[in-house]
Amino acid sequence: MTTPTATKTPTFKAGINPLSLPKRTKLAVAYLAVVLVPVVIAQLLGMEIEGLYTSILSALNLLAMSVFFMQFPLAGRIKQLPLFANIDWGITKHKQLGQYLGIFFFLHPILILLPKALMSFDDFSVSLVNSITSPHLLTGLLAWLTMVVWVLMSVFKDKLNIQYETWRALHVIGFSIIATLATLHITTVGSHGQYYQQFNVIWWLLYTVSMLLIVYNYLIKPYLIKQRPYAISYVEKINECDWQVNIAPITSNRLAYQPGQFVWINTTGNPYSFEQHPFSIVAGKEQGQLGFIIRELGDYTSSLDQLTAGQTVYVDGPYGSMTLDQSQLASGITLIAGGAGIAPILSLLRQLAMQHDPRVIRLLYANHNPARMVYVDELIELEKTMTDFKVQLICEQLNVHDETLPGYLVPGLINQTLINATMTPGKESQWTFYLCGPKGMISATTVHLHKLGITQPQINFEQLAF
Ligand SMILES: Cc1cc2nc3c(=O)[nH]c(=O)nc-3n(C[C@H](O)[C@H](O)[C@H](O)COP(=O)(O)OP(=O)(O)OC[C@H]3O[C@@H](n4cnc5c(N)ncnc54)[C@H](O)[C@@H]3O)c2cc1C
Repeated sequence: MTTPTATKTPTFKAGINPLSLPKRTKLAVAYLAVVLVPVVIAQLLGMEIEGLYTSILSALNLLAMSVFFMQFPLAGRIKQLPLFANIDWGITKHKQLGQYLGIFFFLHPILILLPKALMSFDDFSVSLVNSITSPHLLTGLLAWLTMVVWVLMSVFKDKLNIQYETWRALHVIGFSIIATLATLHITTVGSHGQYYQQFNVIWWLLYTVSMLLIVYNYLIKPYLIKQRPYAISYVEKINECDWQVNIAPITSNRLAYQPGQFVWINTTGNPYSFEQHPFSIVAGKEQGQLGFIIRELGDYTSSLDQLTAGQTVYVDGPYGSMTLDQSQLASGITLIAGGAGIAPILSLLRQLAMQHDPRVIRLLYANHNPARMVYVDELIELEKTMTDFKVQLICEQLNVHDETLPGYLVPGLINQTLINATMTPGKESQWTFYLCGPKGMISATTVHLHKLGITQPQINFEQLAF
């Protein structure tokens, strides 16, 4: 295997707008087709459900359970299946749908009891007490209570005073328990979601696949990763807040990746540890090496001085779809990086330089202050060696008397004027954009791009947090 995988020479065709391929729309359609399968099967098998309200509620329950089971592969880092290989899309959808599911399942008992409450208060009271006390509804009640707590724990994750790894472990364990209880509930209780005995096979199948996925991700995959360890070959602080960390494979295994992709690295020495962090790959100088530019941000990234050369590192990946494949037919490329977002952007830029890409290539690189920039000399040098490349550095906190990098630095934030200046007038629809940085920067920049008439399929992005 080569490192990184070779990218094809650009085959840009003027006049064609190939950028209109809506990758995320395609994923959404494929997702919808998959989650609707149980609903369609239920319709084919036929239902014996009385009344329109119950029919609609039953169909919604089916859909919600189907979406619930799909939450496991969506966040499951399954790069082998195209629908789940786009991790950023998968995790964003996992979070959004998790909130909708939380609301729907919270309302589930209320929606079931609602007709009774409207018809007779006595009947409603009896059903309510029955729902809480009846032993055969216990699995449903426990699933419901656990779901409410766990969804709230996910929504307010950043406000909980617990480590990300502890939260993740609780998230996986909690939702595995909820899946078990909910499957027992739907296969044993009532008409809502249960049709015929043979239909239950679908729920047990989905449950088994979800649990196997957990076993694969937390036991089998770490075992496989353990067989191809890396070791730290270089660790150095490169400015006031960023580190360059390089790792080299210990075995003959080489990771095949494309510039712009990322991996999860685990430096604990234990391949089964939950302490893993995602970082974009920047090619190392030596064959097979992986490099990372890491910004000090929290507990882990602020203790990189404790890493030592030779220390074992386990690598899970590569992941991510922000690669040059997305711009093969574009006539120009604008790269936009904020802070640590320079890592995948630099990787893309180095690849474009290596393949002598003849297109218009522009880089907007923003940071709080000039002391936080990395590899500026290399960027300026690339202006001389690449066919048509220019870099613009942008700093929020720029002293008006700052004499560093004259001609390259402008004060402020990335704005529409700066972005507009990167495109050849009249060719905006043939442009591809790559964005990487913190969430706020990605959202603000995307708004600027839309105002400039750039469509979503033209924008590829990676935000530095899930
Ligand atoms: C796809 C991707 C690529 C990234 N590439 C880079 C890069 O090239 N360079 C760089 O400096 N940073 C990168 N990051 C950000 C980096 O992963 C976090 O800054 C780092 O994990 C924070 O860990 P911490 O313990 O120092 O901070 P903490 O204070 O523990 O965490 C800060 C926040 O980072 C996120 N985070 C923490 N741990 C993880 C984890 N294991 N998985 C996912 N999110 C986590 C959480 O949202 C958390 O709230 C990337 C993030 C993502 C999602």
